[in-house]
Amino acid sequence: MRNLVLVLGDQLDRKSVAFDGFDRAVDAVWMAEVREEATHAWSHKVRIALFLSAMRHFAAELRAENIQVIYRLMDDPANRGSFAAELRATIERLRPAKVIVVEPGEWRVAESLRPIAEFRPDRHFYCSTEEFGEWAHAKKQLRLEFFYRQLRARHKVLLERGEPVGGKWNFDVENRGSFGKAGPGFLPKPLTFASDAITSEVIAMVNTTFADHPGTLDNFDFPVTAADAQRALQDFVSNSLPFFGMYQDAMWTDEPVLYHSRLSALMNLKLLNPRDAVSAAEQAYHDGHAPIEAVEGYIRQILGWREYVRGIYWRFMPEYLERNHLDAHEPLPRFYWDGKTDMECMRQALGQTLRYGYAHHIQRLMVTGLFALLFGVEPKQVHLWYLAIYYDAVEWVESPNTLGLSQYADGGVMGSKPYIASGKYIQRMSNYCGHCRYDPAKSTGENACPFTTLYWEFLLRHETMLRANPRTLMQIRNADRLSSSEKSRIKTQAADLRRTLGAQTT
Ligand SMILES: Cc1cc2nc3c(=O)[nH]c(=O)nc-3n(C[C@H](O)[C@H](O)[C@H](O)COP(=O)(O)OP(=O)(O)OC[C@H]3O[C@@H](n4cnc5c(N)ncnc54)[C@H](O)[C@@H]3O)c2cc1C
Ligand code: SF4
Repeated sequence: MRNLVLVLGDQLDRKSVAFDGFDRAVDAVWMAEVREEATHAWSHKVRIALFLSAMRHFAAELRAENIQVIYRLMDDPANRGSFAAELRATIERLRPAKVIVVEPGEWRVAESLRPIAEFRPDRHFYCSTEEFGEWAHAKKQLRLEFFYRQLRARHKVLLERGEPVGGKWNFDVENRGSFGKAGPGFLPKPLTFASDAITSEVIAMVNTTFADHPGTLDNFDFPVTAADAQRALQDFVSNSLPFFGMYQDAMWTDEPVLYHSRLSALMNLKLLNPRDAVSAAEQAYHDGHAPIEAVEGYIRQILGWREYVRGIYWRFMPEYLERNHLDAHEPLPRFYWDGKTDMECMRQALGQTLRYGYAHHIQRLMVTGLFALLFGVEPKQVHLWYLAIYYDAVEWVESPNTLGLSQYADGGVMGSKPYIASGKYIQRMSNYCGHCRYDPAKSTGENACPFTTLYWEFLLRHETMLRANPRTLMQIRNADRLSSSEKSRIKTQAADLRRTLGAQTT
């Protein structure tokens, strides 16, 4: 054998650089389902099933092209349980001249494969890690906005004669609408994908082998092939994109998807190329189908945030995972794993997460993430929860979002301030509070909203740091207006919350 080409679970791209020069006569593909990858974080059943079903479909497509695929199934009794052991056994048996892999997305996997395999640069992304390094070099602050503008200019996205289409680079202020009392009204139903024989087999296996893992597979309806990923993209662009911009940050009871795309996992598995998503959105603008604030808002998430977090990950790993700037050490409350809480916003976000493996960005950032930040949960526990629980979780995108954006554990690499708010933010952006036993306006007393109590207590606890930051000075000035007895009641109430909820851990 000449080349053994490794295809990892998040590298399911037939056009990948791994296949450049591939010769069926002398090369083969190697893929393996290993228990270690599903248990390293206590993964949601949907996350496991999505990866495995997509991998099996990809292998079947390669075989249909007469490509030799050496594939180890999870439930094969001979499965050795780890990548390293499986790969070693294959190499000993086949003795290939070379082992080739696209640079892995995760630091841990890259370290384990570096001595064995030749890495090829990943052309899935717009920006290589080297280009990000050049941009970041000698910069004091690595702010998304400047990175994003540079990428848009370089790739000529939403540009007219060198100027941003619509006259502005960023329509963020138009992306913060809420639905008002009447609610969202008509909502498009995202395209769903029925399980075929391969997916059904995977679902049955996951239900047996990972029975004690969180979540359910009863609602599994995700695309698992590149062709279906294209259909899901077209469906999103036709039906939801026009409303995406305005209601990007809004939340509504029992409506997990609203106008979001549910395409992140497909891009992370590389079944969908981000350029396809960006150019479909851009085309929708030029066709007059979607307004600029929706199209720019969507493209900013992909060309901006997605590329930026990858750059941050590779620049600061491996020490990034250890960061704990706010010195937070509380345990993660148990309700994160079972959704049993009387906070309606958390019940909604966690309930849908357990049902579908999905929550949209603001639910992750400003509900589950915000609560963990205000409560003072140890960042590593928050990171492992996010890595386990979402259908799209892969470490290079999950960890900067969790540790940086959401928990401020990186001390300001990602964000210029901690994203903190009281229950009133959730009240403004959703209808959750109207169904809740707590009152978002109250910080103390029996029906005080835990978010509001913990928000004020966070300001008091981190006063020195927040006063020194011009972006949080206003919030501290509001805290200055509290009387000393109010401050002490808030501190007592927060301590009671920590005692009660902190005792309910896994
Ligand atoms: C604490 C936390 C953890 C997260 N963990 C993950 C994760 O493990 N995997 C993941 O893909 N995203 C993660 N995100 C980012 C974001 O929440 C998801 O990408 C998004 O909710 C996926 O749903 P969607 O495809 O419907 O997105 P849409 O709202 O339709 O957004 C469009 C696309 O933009 C990209 N995108 C949007 N926001 C971000 C972002 N902040 N960072 C990177 N890409 C972004 C995604 O590819 C997404 O499909 C996390 C965010 C937070 C706050
Ligand atoms: S009152 Fe507080 S806990 Fe209840 S839904 Fe609103 S923000 Fe969440």
